Amino acid sequence: MTSKRRLGVVLRFYSNLLVVEDLETGKQYLCKLRGKFKKQGIRPITGDTVEFTPIHGDEGVVENILHRRSELKKPSVANVDQVIVVTTLRKPEVPLEILDRFIVLVEREKLPLVLVLNKIDLLERDEITEFEKIYGNLYPLVKTSAVTKEGISELKEYLQGKISVFAGMSGVGKSSLLNAIDENLKLRTGEISEKLERGRHTTTTAQLLRVRDGGWVVDTPGFASLELEGIEPEELRYLFIEFENDKCFFPDCVHLDEPECFVKMQVMKGKLPRSRYESYVKMLKEIQEKAFRKP
Ligand code: GDP
Ligand code: ZN
Repeated sequence: MTSKRRLGVVLRFYSNLLVVEDLETGKQYLCKLRGKFKKQGIRPITGDTVEFTPIHGDEGVVENILHRRSELKKPSVANVDQVIVVTTLRKPEVPLEILDRFIVLVEREKLPLVLVLNKIDLLERDEITEFEKIYGNLYPLVKTSAVTKEGISELKEYLQGKISVFAGMSGVGKSSLLNAIDENLKLRTGEISEKLERGRHTTTTAQLLRVRDGGWVVDTPGFASLELEGIEPEELRYLFIEFENDKCFFPDCVHLDEPECFVKMQVMKGKLPRSRYESYVKMLKEIQEKAFRKP
C-alpha cells in the first residue's frame, strides 16, 4: 500500500531534500528527487504539484512534476493562485501610485488579485468610502484590522484551498495579518521541518505555510521590487483593467495627447478615477523614458 504513488504539494526545500504535503491526507514527507531530474535539467520548485512514492515512515521519492499552472519568479513559487495586495491609508500613508504599481505588476503576471485595506481601525468612515469608490469595483476588497480583527475571517475565506502570495509596502501589516489569520503559521511547519531545523539544515527557498483553516501562504512577500522592467509602453494600458482601450479614435491610442481619447474623456467626466489615470501617465512616462535611453 505504501508503495503506491501519491499526489503532493512541495512546501519547502532543505538543500537537496524537499518536504511534500500529501494532498489527500495532509501528511508531510521528506523526499529525495529521482535521479532523472538531474539528467533532464528540471527541478521542482516550491508550490509544484508532484507525484511521489512513500518509502517508509515519513520518507519518500519524487517521481514527476505535474503541469505548472503559473510560475512566479520573485520569490520562485509555482502555481500561485492569487496575490493579496495589502495597503494602508495611514501609518504609513501608501501613495495610490505605489498601490497602482503593485496592481500593474500583478496584472502583468496574469494572477488574480485580492485587495486588502488594512489598519481600518485608524481610519474615518469617509476615507474608507473614498478608497472603495476607486478600487471597490475593480477587485475584491477586504477591509481589515489586525488589531481589532475586523475582516480577518473574510480574508481567511479568500485563502481557502489556494496558494496565496502577500504583497504590499513594508509596514502595511502583512506579517500582522498572517499572524491574525493563524497565530501558529510560522511555527507550525510540521515535525519534519522541526527535526531538520534542530539539525543544521535551513530552508533554501521560499516556503509554503499551511493555514490552519485552509490554504497555503508563501512566507516571502512578492513584488518587492516595483521596477516596471520589461513592460512595453503599448502594453501598460491593458494592465489598467478599467480602461476601455478599444473606444478611442486611434486603435493604438496610449491616452496621452491623442485626439478623441475615450479614456481621457471618461476621466474628465468623472467616470474614471483621476488618481488611476495619473498613476498610468506617470508609469507610462517612466517606461517611455527608459525605452528612449536604451542604446
Ligand atoms: P509588514 O512590514 O507589512 O509585515 O508590517 P507589520 O506586520 O510588521 O506591521 C507594521 C506595524 O503596523 C506594526 O507595528 C504592527 O503592529 C502595525 N499594524 C499592523 N496591522 C495593524 C492594524 O490593523 N492596525 C494598526 N493600528 N496597526 C497595525
Ligand atoms: Zn485613448
